[in-house]
Amino acid sequence: MSGTVLLGYDIETASDSTVGFLEGAAIIHDKHEVPWAVYVTGATVEKCTDAVRKVRDNELLTVCQHTYDHMLLKCVYMMPGDVKPLHGESPNAFIRGGTLEEVREQISKTQALMRDLVGVECQGLTAPWCYYRGLVDRPDLLQVLEDNGIRWVRAYGRDYRDCQPTPFTAQPFFYKDQGFPDILELGMQGYQDDFYWDRFDDRRHGDTYQDYLYATLEEVAKNDWVWNVASHDHGTPTKEAFFETKGKWIEDFIVRGKEVGVRFAAPGDFYAEMVARRDAGEEIAACL
Ligand SMILES: [Zn+2]
Repeated sequence: MSGTVLLGYDIETASDSTVGFLEGAAIIHDKHEVPWAVYVTGATVEKCTDAVRKVRDNELLTVCQHTYDHMLLKCVYMMPGDVKPLHGESPNAFIRGGTLEEVREQISKTQALMRDLVGVECQGLTAPWCYYRGLVDRPDLLQVLEDNGIRWVRAYGRDYRDCQPTPFTAQPFFYKDQGFPDILELGMQGYQDDFYWDRFDDRRHGDTYQDYLYATLEEVAKNDWVWNVASHDHGTPTKEAFFETKGKWIEDFIVRGKEVGVRFAAPGDFYAEMVARRDAGEEIAACL
């Protein structure tokens, strides 16, 4: 058995849910000695500075960014092909992305906030909402990431309908063909949280999100895939609330992951490994 799992959480509500999530997640990751990353919006860093500072020195944690106030780097047009309401009344959803200048401002401002308020130089970024095929068609956006010292990004997190699950063919690759051989796309395979799994009604493996997670872990181990797993600081105003909701499946997931023998990696270590493989001549091609 093999397979690699990276756990990374979007911290974006700038509210009590941020505090509850960070406190709860730190307890779980310390208990199981499993690395984790947080992708924090600049607005959340401003509002919840103490909560982020409190976990910043956790040796298992990598602090990354998620734009200033969750601006999409590009548009998303979700067409699930069913009649269930999506984000609003319609089953389809069009979410507008920012302009290049707006996105540049959002990312550089957040780098500065992270540096000034938390003392962190972010090397990773999650693109709000994520996109089909990530940033393969946007060298201008990749240039913004490069200019801001971003080394790994989670931007490929949707299927051809701009929905989910994101296929596991979306394995990590460098944006070499776009002229950015040092920027690694990690992908965000599967569902970006329990609420998307629920919306897309994926009961193939059972009635709970854990059923889906466990079945997918077996596949990841069997095929030696990389799986970037995500969650959000939604509905977690206290650590007790966290343990009753997100924390429940996160801990179950970690325990089962250890049972099936996947390894848990920190994004910085994983990035260094991928660079070493690339520099040793291995072809790490995008498979879209
Ligand atoms: Zn987000």
